[in-house]
Amino acid sequence: MIPMKTYVPKIDVAVFLTVTMAVNLFAAASRITVTPEQPVKFVPLRNIRLLESPFSEAVEINRQYLLAHDPDRLLAPFRREAALEPKAQPYGNWESMGLDGHSAGHYLSAISLMTAIGADPDGEFHRRLDYMIDELAIVQKTNGNGYLGGIPGSRDYWSRVGEGQVELMRRKWAPWYNLHKMFAGLRDTYLHGGNEKARDLLVRYGDWCEKVTSGLTDAQMQRMLDTEYGGMNETLADIYAITGNKKYIELAKRFNHRAIFDPLENHQDRLTGLHANTQIPKITEMERIAALVHNEKLHTGAGFFWETVTQNRSVAFGGNSVSEHFNDPRDFGRMIEHREGPETCNTYNMLRLTKGLFKAEPKAVYADFYERALYNHILASIHPKKPGYVYFTPIRPDHYRVYSQPEQAFWCCVGTGMENPGRYGEFIYARARDGLYVNLFIPSELSVPNIGMVLRQETTFPDEASTQLKLQIKKPVTFTLNIRHPIWVNTDDLTVKVNGRSIDIESTPSSYAAIRREWKNGDTIDVELPMHTRVERLPDGSDWVAILYGPIVLVKPGNTDNMDGLFTDDGRMAHVAQGPMIPLDKVPALLATEEEVISHVVPDRSAGSLHFRIMNVIEPAEPEGLPLVPFFRLHERRYQMYWELKSL
Ligand SMILES: [Zn+2]
Repeated sequence: MIPMKTYVPKIDVAVFLTVTMAVNLFAAASRITVTPEQPVKFVPLRNIRLLESPFSEAVEINRQYLLAHDPDRLLAPFRREAALEPKAQPYGNWESMGLDGHSAGHYLSAISLMTAIGADPDGEFHRRLDYMIDELAIVQKTNGNGYLGGIPGSRDYWSRVGEGQVELMRRKWAPWYNLHKMFAGLRDTYLHGGNEKARDLLVRYGDWCEKVTSGLTDAQMQRMLDTEYGGMNETLADIYAITGNKKYIELAKRFNHRAIFDPLENHQDRLTGLHANTQIPKITEMERIAALVHNEKLHTGAGFFWETVTQNRSVAFGGNSVSEHFNDPRDFGRMIEHREGPETCNTYNMLRLTKGLFKAEPKAVYADFYERALYNHILASIHPKKPGYVYFTPIRPDHYRVYSQPEQAFWCCVGTGMENPGRYGEFIYARARDGLYVNLFIPSELSVPNIGMVLRQETTFPDEASTQLKLQIKKPVTFTLNIRHPIWVNTDDLTVKVNGRSIDIESTPSSYAAIRREWKNGDTIDVELPMHTRVERLPDGSDWVAILYGPIVLVKPGNTDNMDGLFTDDGRMAHVAQGPMIPLDKVPALLATEEEVISHVVPDRSAGSLHFRIMNVIEPAEPEGLPLVPFFRLHERRYQMYWELKSL
């Protein structure tokens, strides 16, 4: 782990800020009964507004994607399973192939988040939330037992599972995974969408879950957990946090998968060969439960998982796994060759885990990973002009990605893809006991209504290597502003000016520069974040390298030939880029050592900011060199992210 400069708060803690922020910044906490004591809390989404940037543009595209869907079609499987006449045809693709209903839960989460961040200008998402919750209430009442699922043959299926036939898990497509999406959707509708009725539906659904599992032994539960179950334990833990009723946390613990947790608690990585996204949500929940019940072993296990996945199993853009499974960390050869590179859902869940761990220990190493994965994977996975999301991001040189189409594709990564833009702002700022963390350099406005403070961050980062924070504040307040010194800014390179005057800071790469003072209205903080190009090998140490500028992964744009299925139809495997793969001996390599590569990467300002050329080391030779552009801006095109180093 990268060490962080420890910060010891001074004695003159700003009690005023601490107390008032705790009460008012977290007014939503009134919806939560049990809040863990942790050093850091995140700011409610409704207190953050994204200003103009690629992120705000993606939010608007996401709005179009979400509006293109018909709630009645999303809800059709739920009415069918309650023996009610569906009001519309169910959607096709995964929505009619056994995973029926999973998208409605994601959709509720997504539109709740969009309302929270102010991306609901005409109130349409609010209306849809109210409508869908009313409809789901009818379904739940008709079911009579609290159930709210769309799995085909639900009633008979769950009664048999409840009788102990847990082997039936493998006869359907990830049943608990599917149900987890509606649990999470109801939770988010209550917490972010402000819909009180969703809380009742959620609690009744939790009671159904308790009833259906009450007759199962612990051994039967563990056997059941061999099948992908999403983050069931997290949502049950959340019902505990919301209600304060301990029976839900006990139920959540029954969903802790010991076969996965036990080795992690002993710092053993036994992940090779496992389906990656089956595991990651479990660990997000491992940390959630650890926080709620103060279980150090669970916390340690979750931290170890994060460390081994991010340090040993992740590639330059923050993703992990090949064809959905964890590869041997000593051999990334299959990932280089495969058309199915890292899956977007994995990184969605890794970011949630990162956030959970940051709350327990606000270390910059978490923010460094978050930034890398947010720009290079999450932001890169949504088409900026034609609404659509990416499932696999291959690192196979000169391959490409395909995009979902509204009402056609209902993959897992469409579900999480719909949620991602609503979450872009959630990690930018965090609240400590005596101040604020600035984790990310994304144009945004943070409001702290109780003290009449607005912190506005203006930047075109990463196009410029700096950011500016401006404070509007009713009366002076003392607190510590912790500004992240990213891992990619060299020691002594980070400079901070307050109102135009340089101030002394002590920080090292991957730490926070702590500035404690009495802040006044109009204070302006300018931060310089000099960026550099660098190369990174694959974690297996093989001769494949990626090129980065600051946190931004650079790729060589390829051609647009034969990108079959670029905008996908409703085919079962349409999420895979099936077009021809370029033979690996036909893609350019670099005739250089790792150390030599960087001196051959030169800025190409005539092409625009963040444009580079790699010169004089390409094999076969390219007299003009080859262009490099930020991956997050490259769409509808083949690309080369990794280069093989060859010796002269
Ligand atoms: Zn997925």
